Amino acid sequence: MKNSVDANDIITDPDYQRNYVYDDKRASCLVESILIGIPIPVIYLAEEDESIYSVIDGQQRITSFVRYLKNEFPLVGLKKLQSLNGLYFKQLDKNLQRRLNHQSLSIVCIEKDSRDLKYEIFSRLNLGAVKLKDQEVRNCIYRGKFNDMLKDIANTNTYLPILFHDSNDRYSYEERILRFFALRPMVLKGTYKIMMNKCMESHADDDDNAIKNYKTKYNALIDLVKTVLGEDAFFASDQRKKFNGAVYDSIMIPFSLFPKRDIIKHADEIRSAIQKLKAENKDYQDWVFAGTNASKRIRSRVCAVMDILSNVISADSSSHESNKRLFAPHIKEELFYPGYICKYCGNQILSIDDCEVDHIIPYDAGGPTEIENAQLLHKWCNRSKGSKVQVDSDFEDDSSEDED
Ligand SMILES: [Zn+2]
Repeated sequence: MKNSVDANDIITDPDYQRNYVYDDKRASCLVESILIGIPIPVIYLAEEDESIYSVIDGQQRITSFVRYLKNEFPLVGLKKLQSLNGLYFKQLDKNLQRRLNHQSLSIVCIEKDSRDLKYEIFSRLNLGAVKLKDQEVRNCIYRGKFNDMLKDIANTNTYLPILFHDSNDRYSYEERILRFFALRPMVLKGTYKIMMNKCMESHADDDDNAIKNYKTKYNALIDLVKTVLGEDAFFASDQRKKFNGAVYDSIMIPFSLFPKRDIIKHADEIRSAIQKLKAENKDYQDWVFAGTNASKRIRSRVCAVMDILSNVISADSSSHESNKRLFAPHIKEELFYPGYICKYCGNQILSIDDCEVDHIIPYDAGGPTEIENAQLLHKWCNRSKGSKVQVDSDFEDDSSEDED
């Protein structure tokens, strides 16, 4: 056991270790239990790589045990084996030393490629006095560059405390950052918790370039939101001056889908339209206060802000040329039927309010603006498709500024 940990075969989480809460008395009690032969709870390890294990449950027990074997503290407060109080490991008689050295703790190993199972086990075991928060659990389960990136952004983006109006308490910032990445594809399945777990899992093996790109995008997006909407961007209203996750969704997703230069160009109009939305639109107020995790409400609040950006930005380009790109309103109604599948993401379009009409053969490639060349896509899918190159290049532009 001791050798294992020393050899770094078992990863003892650095964040967790910082929070090592067993005091020497409790650690002594654990050692006493082992010496007396009282069974101690099973320790769960998860295989990370070949023969590399992380501790899912039992971190405190392993750490306490190893600390004692390394002579880091003397036994204190023992009730049964009182004569051992004050003794370091090296001072114990050889018999007792041997007993501890050969003591095999009961260990269950969970194989690689079963992260969902790990999460499940962790959640079930995590019933102690200080229950871990979801993101603390994710931090233990979904290790890797994506997780490191969330922590990196949370610790280095100086606008987050300004926009969030609270401090980073037990990975709350990391969870909000993750929330954006999890929601961004707008494939709403299960719950936020499930979507966020899946997001951590699906990005766990992303390469350095992809990770760098996410970080740059997120930081640029936060920068843009603060520039356009100010410090109150994620408040629900002037009366409720507190970070609101549902408002955050409804701002972050649309702002990530339109070119930065268009948003900046119309910053004042967009700001006042969003202020009006928050202050006067009863539906929007409802979507960000009650039952905020229902998928219909998520889509509706995201669409509300998308429509504002769409209207403000397209009003500006209502030249004769761009009018030729616009489908007549009745085409959308003619095309839509319940169960319509969005060609971009392959998911159903649940409401006519969620979609836009799109050219099958692109307008720029000579495709006509007629019903024969029209299809429906989710608003967010249509924007992802249309603005991808621009958005990416816009965000790239910012990376150098961010590093100043
Ligand atoms: Zn779609």
